[in-house]
Amino acid sequence: MSNSKQARFFESVQTNFDKAAAHTDIHPGLLNQIKVCNAVYQMNFPVKIKDSYEVIEAYRVQHSHHRLPTKGGIRFSHLVDQDEVMALAALMTYKCAIVDVPFGGAKGGVKVSPRAYTEEELERITRRYTVELIRKNFIGPSVDVPAPDYGTGEREMAWILDTYQTFKGTEIDAGGCVTGKPVRQGGINGRTEATGRGVFYGIREALLDEKILKQTGLSKGIAGKTMVIQGMGNVGSYTGLISQAEGDVKIIGLSELEGTIYSEKGIDMQAALDFRKEHGTIIGLPGTQTLERADWIAIECDILVPAALESVITIENAHRVRTKIIAEAANGPTTAAAEDILNKMGVVIIPDMFVNAGGVTVSYFEWLKNLSHMRFGRMDKRFNQNTYLNIVSTFESLTGKSITEKEKSFITKGADEVDLVRSGLEETMSNSFEQIMEVYKNKKDIGSLRNAAFVTALNKVANDYLTLGVFP
Ligand code: NAD
Repeated sequence: MSNSKQARFFESVQTNFDKAAAHTDIHPGLLNQIKVCNAVYQMNFPVKIKDSYEVIEAYRVQHSHHRLPTKGGIRFSHLVDQDEVMALAALMTYKCAIVDVPFGGAKGGVKVSPRAYTEEELERITRRYTVELIRKNFIGPSVDVPAPDYGTGEREMAWILDTYQTFKGTEIDAGGCVTGKPVRQGGINGRTEATGRGVFYGIREALLDEKILKQTGLSKGIAGKTMVIQGMGNVGSYTGLISQAEGDVKIIGLSELEGTIYSEKGIDMQAALDFRKEHGTIIGLPGTQTLERADWIAIECDILVPAALESVITIENAHRVRTKIIAEAANGPTTAAAEDILNKMGVVIIPDMFVNAGGVTVSYFEWLKNLSHMRFGRMDKRFNQNTYLNIVSTFESLTGKSITEKEKSFITKGADEVDLVRSGLEETMSNSFEQIMEVYKNKKDIGSLRNAAFVTALNKVANDYLTLGVFP
C-alpha cells in the first residue's frame, strides 16, 4: 500500500463525514469541531536493537475530547503514518457514539513490522512508547485508554500496563489505563473474541431485517449463508469461528498474505487456523483450491468480510465484487469512491463503525471492571442460582413432577463473567443496529447504511457537545 493511498484513508473518512453531515441539522461550526482531530502527538524515540540504536516513529491521536477518556487501539505496522492514525482515531469517535460507549475516539500507531523484531525487542519498543505517552499525559484511566489493534494483542497490553504501573502504581485505578489485557492481569473474559463476535451479531441482525433482505435478495437468517474472509488475525479468525459454530455459516474462501484458498464445500475455520500455525501458510490446506491473493474479492458469496487492513476495496477492484453483503470487520476497508460503485451494484455494506464495534464495547466493560475492582458476576451469580433453584423446587413440589439434574443445572445456572460480557455485547449490537435502521428507513435519500450509521453517531456527538455547554 503506497503512502498516497494511506493519505487517502483520512480523506475517505472525511468524505463520508461530509456526505452524512448533509443529512443532519447540526450547526456548521459544531460540525467543523467534530470533524477535526483535537490532539496529534507524533514522536520519535531511540530503541536499542541488537548492536545499534533504531529511531522509531510513532503516534497517538486523540480525535475528540467531548468525552473522556479517549479510547482506541494501538497498531504496529510498517505502513503506519499520521494520516492513517488520524483516520482510525476519527472512526473511533463515531464507533463509540454508535454503541453508546462514553468515550472520545483515539488511536495509536507505531511504525514497525512486528515480524522484523524479536519478542524482547518488541517489549522494549512497547515499553518505550508507553513512557512517551506517560510523559505527555497521553495515557491514563481517565485520560486515554489504548487497546489492541492490528499487530498487537494482550501481550503488548500487559507490557503497557506494567510500564504504566511502574510510574503510576499508586493510582488506585491504574489498572484501567489500557484494555485488552490478559485476564490474570485485570483483563476481562471474552475480550479477545469480542470484535469477531460483534461482527457475527451485526451480520446476523442484518440478515433478519426485511429491508436488507429485499435489497440483497437473500433469504432470512444467517444459517447456510456463504462467507469469504480476508485476514486470519484476531478479528478474522473469531468472525469465522463464531459464524461457523453459532451461525451455521459456510466459509468458502480465506485470504492471507500468502494467498487465497477456496472450497465450494466449505472450509473448517479451526482446521485452517491449525494448518497455518503448523505450516506457516494456508496454501495446501487439504480439500481447497489455491487462488491468487487478490482474488478473494471476486469469489461469489453471500457475505464478504475484509478483516485485514484499510483501503483494500478500491475503484480498481470494486467491479470484481460478487457478494451481496460486505461486513467491514476491518477499519476503512472500502474507499469512499469504491463505495459509490458498490452502491450502484446493489451491494449492502455493513459499515465498520458499527459492525466491528464489539472490541471497544467489551473494552468498555473491562475498563468498568477495573474501576469497580471486581469481576462481573461476583455479587449476583450465586444469588440468582439459588433463586432459580428455589423456583424449580417449588414447581416440582407443586406439580409432583421432577426434572433431570442436567435440565436443572441448565435452568438454574447463574451468569459467569463471560456470559454477562457476551450478553452485554449482543444487546449492544442489536440496539445499535436498530438505531441505525431507524435512520436508514426514515430519513429520505439517506442512501447507505454507512450514511445512516454516521448520522446516528454525529447526532449523538453533537448532542454531547451541546450538553457540555461547549456550543451554547
Ligand atoms: P491482526 O494483526 O490480529 O490480524 C490481521 C491479519 O491480516 C494478519 O493475519 C495479517 O497477516 C493479515 N493481512 C494483512 N494484510 C493482508 C492482505 N493484504 N491480505 C490478506 N491478509 C492480510 O489484526 P486485527 O486485530 O485482527 O485487526 C484487523 C482489522 O480489524 C484492522 O483493520 C483493525 O483496525 C480492525 N479492528 C480490530 C479490532 C481489535 O479488537 N483487534 C477492533 C476493531 C477493528
